[in-house]
Amino acid sequence: DGVLLSEVRRPCRVMLLVNPQSGKGQALALYNGPVQRMLHEAGVPHTLFITERKNHARELVREADLSQWDALVIISGDGLLYEVVNGLLEREDWEQAIHTPLGILPGGSGNALAASIHHYSGGPLVSSEELLVSCGFILCKGLVSRMDLTSVHLGSGQRLFSFLSLAWGFVADVDVESEKYRHVGAARFTVGTLVRLASLRVYRGRLSYLPADDDGDTGAERGAIPTGGGEHTFRNTCSSNNALNTKRRETPSLYGPADSLLPPADGPVPGDWAVVPEEDFVLMLAMYQSCLAEDLLAAPNAALDQGVIHLMYVKAGISRASLLKLFLAMEKGTHLATGCPHLVYRRVRALRLEPYATKGLITVDGEAVEYGLVQAQVHRGLARMITG
Ligand code: ADP
Ligand code: MG
Repeated sequence: DGVLLSEVRRPCRVMLLVNPQSGKGQALALYNGPVQRMLHEAGVPHTLFITERKNHARELVREADLSQWDALVIISGDGLLYEVVNGLLEREDWEQAIHTPLGILPGGSGNALAASIHHYSGGPLVSSEELLVSCGFILCKGLVSRMDLTSVHLGSGQRLFSFLSLAWGFVADVDVESEKYRHVGAARFTVGTLVRLASLRVYRGRLSYLPADDDGDTGAERGAIPTGGGEHTFRNTCSSNNALNTKRRETPSLYGPADSLLPPADGPVPGDWAVVPEEDFVLMLAMYQSCLAEDLLAAPNAALDQGVIHLMYVKAGISRASLLKLFLAMEKGTHLATGCPHLVYRRVRALRLEPYATKGLITVDGEAVEYGLVQAQVHRGLARMITG
């Protein structure tokens, strides 16, 4: 730490966004306690922004003068970072804006990205409190790495960006239904899973995907980020941000990289795509980071910047007991090795899901989105994340 801190040329300025409603409603107390103490000791000047409503952070980030900030950090669950990422990509200057280093301190009930970053740093599974301390250290150290983002097209033509997951069926239902158990914190997913198991059902649709090459690190769509020779700290990226300007604009979602791998939504998938023969599913889960929740290592082979979507689906016909076994194995990330005949795992670059029912739930990073046909493509290393 000492070496990195001595390299600081001037104090870095952090925009610190807190969602006071996330999790058990404790995020502000976490700020006033351990977070403020750590940032003070590490000499990280910051300005606190307390969100007042959903999409407040998204608007703040969309309109911010980014030359004023060296990093955007949230204390909340994944939902607030989802707002920040999409706010940045709704800017006319998105190409520079998405270079802004992002940080996450777990303060919500769904802290999957924080758990993933802790996991990549080599730490064992830990409790919420220990996870906050671990992520606090990582933030103060300030190493920045590239992170994949996945572009998601909805039926209406709207596009959004995702850093974590795209889910349909069982997992999406648990994501949304468990919101009412938010007061129990991270345990909401365990409660939600048990409740959903009791009313297990089948979801019908067609799933297609573009397989990744055998070697997951070649041929990926790479974000238009100049190569900087590996990791650097967010405290000396200031000059590259100074050139940013913030023009106002009226229509969101127009910006971001082109999705060259995706066919028109009303046409067939290209010949090099695979179409899953089954049409009856229990769940579809696409992950680009390792953890689905603090205690669920859903994509054990995922890494921050791979350019790979880890696609899993569970075919209908699985028993409740077998599905429960899969979720229990997921706590150690061993579910893919259990030999469950209903579970399929593929590394892909893009996918399309066409649900047959007109009503249902699809979640992106744990947030419910418009239901219907959805297509997605990974953009390797598009964002920058403060990691260990
Ligand atoms: P959790 O992990 O508890 O779900 P999130 O960070 O995901 O916490 O936030 C939950 C939801 O609250 C997200 O949809 C987010 O956009 C929304 N949100 C953000 N700020 C506020 C606020 N001040 N009041 C209500 N909802 C908010
Ligand atoms: Mg959430």
